[in-house]
Amino acid sequence: MSLLERVAGVLFPARCVFCGAVVPQGTFACPACAGKAPRVEEPVCSGCGRGKAFCACRRSFAFSACAAAYYYEDAVKRGIARLKFHGHPGVAAGFAALALPAARRVTADAAVDLVTAVPLSRKGLRARGYNQSTLFARALAGHLTLPYAETLQKPFDTKPQHTCGGTERWGNVFGAFAVCTDVQGKRILLADDILTTGATLHECARILMLAGAADVRCIAVACVR
Ligand SMILES: [Zn+2]
Ligand SMILES: [Zn+2]
Repeated sequence: MSLLERVAGVLFPARCVFCGAVVPQGTFACPACAGKAPRVEEPVCSGCGRGKAFCACRRSFAFSACAAAYYYEDAVKRGIARLKFHGHPGVAAGFAALALPAARRVTADAAVDLVTAVPLSRKGLRARGYNQSTLFARALAGHLTLPYAETLQKPFDTKPQHTCGGTERWGNVFGAFAVCTDVQGKRILLADDILTTGATLHECARILMLAGAADVRCIAVACVR
């Protein structure tokens, strides 16, 4: 380790994505949290991204495959709350490193041209100051040596998905997004933070495909079991 790296390590120590405790450089989770962060294990349903035992494919999706790194439980809930609500945008980079195996799995049998993210509305972006899914997608693109591109916009605000019931979620996001760049023929990896019913990712994938994308696959930090 160079002197510069040591100084950086003192000034900006690596932190556990889940609880914020200082961890050795190059690692992303403390041992206590690692034991309380349930990973999505094989065999995995490529349709909804969950372990086969928890498959929740109730309908066909506009994306061709989906994966998540973790189940949205225990330490993972805490980590995503740090990212989304407690002002720790740096957590996104750690999550991208931890989600890399899932991202490689969902793209194993397909070429990808670019990575993109589920957008926030302008109001949502102003309120948080950053889009956690964009940060996650950008870091993931770096690991996968793929370009990141903004392809979607959310022209107006919708109710937060977590405040909607199961079926209401589909209506809530229908027509909520717009494609803002040329995606003709592109094979796209679409990233989001949490996958619940898949309604948001489905709607984003649907309009990307309508705009001429060749394929959309999805990656989420965590899915609801
Ligand atoms: Zn921790
Ligand atoms: Zn499934």
